[in-house]
Amino acid sequence: MSSVYSRDNTRYYLLEIERYLIMQLDRFGIAAYYLATLPLRRLAIRRAERQGLAPILVLFYHRVADTHPNGWTISRDGFAEQLEWLRQHVELISLAEAHRRIAVGRNSKLAACITFDDGYADNCDFALPLLLSSGVPCTYFVTTQNSLEQKPFAHDVLAGTPVLPNTREQIVELARDGIEIGAHTRTHCDLGRIKGSAELYDEIAGSGDDLADWLARPIRFFAFPFGLPGNLSPSALHVAQQAGYQAVCTAYGGYNLPGQNAFQILRFHADPDMWRFKNWMSVDPRKYRLHRPLDWSPEPNAPSMLEV
Ligand SMILES: [Zn+2]
Repeated sequence: MSSVYSRDNTRYYLLEIERYLIMQLDRFGIAAYYLATLPLRRLAIRRAERQGLAPILVLFYHRVADTHPNGWTISRDGFAEQLEWLRQHVELISLAEAHRRIAVGRNSKLAACITFDDGYADNCDFALPLLLSSGVPCTYFVTTQNSLEQKPFAHDVLAGTPVLPNTREQIVELARDGIEIGAHTRTHCDLGRIKGSAELYDEIAGSGDDLADWLARPIRFFAFPFGLPGNLSPSALHVAQQAGYQAVCTAYGGYNLPGQNAFQILRFHADPDMWRFKNWMSVDPRKYRLHRPLDWSPEPNAPSMLEV
């Protein structure tokens, strides 16, 4: 073994140890913050519940699997643990019910709802059957062209984990079993970069049309791919409203408050780290203030599927 190889090896292990220690310190910091602030947070939540102004948390997952993990995969055990925690600590409601409570301006119990983005085939092996057998509502956002063509997502190919999307048949069956299907564009494009209204319409309205055709029912919700503020735009929101969606979902964190604009629903990533997950689910005041809906005013007279 050459000395250069040994030096590189030692450096690699030192870097790994450093990375592990930083991660543990970060986890310790979050756990300490969560535990220290929990009593005050509980009081604040009780007060908001009494006023009918309790926050509504909308979570998004991508893929639940024990194989080919990447940054947007959670293990089966991790998902089951989060679901159990949610069942014990919050009221689990559907996205339609979350939307209704935000729109009417009243929610008297801390509530959460579960959504999934993209549409991964292996969610049908564990996560979705678990939700269905537990009677927990779920909204499942599907990218229609990837599903039809059975084409792995570009972000998975880049990450070296080209796993398969759901088939159209799986989507139809999930809808039949009671899972609400939502649209997530046709090609999982970044809508913040698209300026042409024809292309925006094709991705936003077109994906809903595809699903409405597959399921023979209107599609009520749309989720923005990537979902950060830069991936949204006033023109894309406008097209989504014209397309007749009841609401669109973002992905940059934040709590939904009863009475806020119900067209734009804020969502949290379901972090696989249980301390971070519990911290966000217990209404972290820092996130409460930081993440609000994009400043955009919907047209008051635009068509809405609420009236259909
Ligand atoms: Zn996505």
